[in-house]
Amino acid sequence: LSAPNDLEAWWLPFTANRAFKQKPRMVARAKGMYYYTPDGREVIDGAAGLWCCNAGHNRDEITAAIQAQAAELDYSPAFQFGHAGGFALASRIAQLAPGDLDHVFFCNSGSEAVDTALKIALAYWNVQGQGSRTRLIGRERGYHGVGFGGISVGGIVKNRQFFGTLLAGVDHLPHTYNRAEQAFSRGEPEWGAHLADELERIVALHDASTIAAVIVEPMAGSTGVLPPPKGYLQRLRQICDKYGILLIFDEVISGFGRLGTTFAAERYGVVPDMITFAKGVNSGTVPMGGVLVRKSIHDAFMKGPDHVIELFHGYTYSGHPLACAAGLAAQDIYRDEKLFERAKTLEPVWADAIHGLKGLPNVLDIRTIGLVGAIDLASRPDAVGARAYEAMDRGFQEEGLMIRVTGDTIALSPPLIVTEDQIGEIADKLARIIRKVA
Ligand code: PMP
Repeated sequence: LSAPNDLEAWWLPFTANRAFKQKPRMVARAKGMYYYTPDGREVIDGAAGLWCCNAGHNRDEITAAIQAQAAELDYSPAFQFGHAGGFALASRIAQLAPGDLDHVFFCNSGSEAVDTALKIALAYWNVQGQGSRTRLIGRERGYHGVGFGGISVGGIVKNRQFFGTLLAGVDHLPHTYNRAEQAFSRGEPEWGAHLADELERIVALHDASTIAAVIVEPMAGSTGVLPPPKGYLQRLRQICDKYGILLIFDEVISGFGRLGTTFAAERYGVVPDMITFAKGVNSGTVPMGGVLVRKSIHDAFMKGPDHVIELFHGYTYSGHPLACAAGLAAQDIYRDEKLFERAKTLEPVWADAIHGLKGLPNVLDIRTIGLVGAIDLASRPDAVGARAYEAMDRGFQEEGLMIRVTGDTIALSPPLIVTEDQIGEIADKLARIIRKVA
């Protein structure tokens, strides 16, 4: 297949459309750490696709598992049947999960996982006879996908302003970033755990008995890599416990090794009431998401009051056999190659390399945590994000580097198979690109 002449192709995401008015960036193949263009150029992947290809691209083990599953059982309706791969993957994820989170609800994306988790929270309270708990609390600069639930609790105003009234009764915690205080920090910044106390303020405004759940990404990813200040997540947990509010961690990005542990919950020693996941679960190969909950929440949601009325929620493709087969193969790779531990070991190497870009022209801040990084560039007067978009485009066209940008921020998240040499290669290419866009 070749590039379409008509560049208005609808399936291109909006950022692609905007950036590619002249020329689309096309890829034809991928393997390991690299994408390859139709004319055979090699492009090192500094973003794991879209924070998802944690095991690297086109792993033979995953390809073989998908092929074998397709030849055996192509589809199975989750409302009628179970299949071995679904149970096996759910068990694997439950074993990896923190605390007593041992029930998995499968869906097909991060957005669906978030909407599912919010519905579970509301239903849970209803079934407990506490139907007044309907309020939801998100966070400024939170990203929870593009479903109606996700944009309601999400903290990006432009993502929700054109879409009507959305969910009622949503408040947002302040975001946790302050350049003046935490510029160029590594890992968890020391300052600002008191920000979690803003939850007390919101509770005081509304009465705790009206609040169903708080949802946060442990590390805000898509909005610029904002690691939580020390003690922040622990304090949120304490306040939620105090008032009986459910705490949901959206681990769509942070799950499956990105921060050096299976889930960020483990890194921070906090067990939330629910975890949403997607992306890395099967290394980005087949659309899949899910929600991890404990048994009592599962039972309330799936069985309804007195286990008589069954609540209805589920998707045609929930637990799709191909997604599950890919998931099992990806989890085998993660375990056998110890990729989550690898991310932890490489964290200081990665931090040194990316922080080494400090001092280049227009670099305002650099943040790293796990195998994630962000470089804030100064805005150009012409348009917010123009410099970063140019960096992304030059990276692909001239340097053979794929990065992600969000506003004026370059976001980085290489596959967890990245080597120390490749980290150096990514940093060198970034240095050249940043000088070029000065
Ligand atoms: N939650 C978080 C934290 C995310 O980062 C994303 C995607 N970047 C989503 C939800 C939405 O996932 P999807 O695009 O698969 O719907």
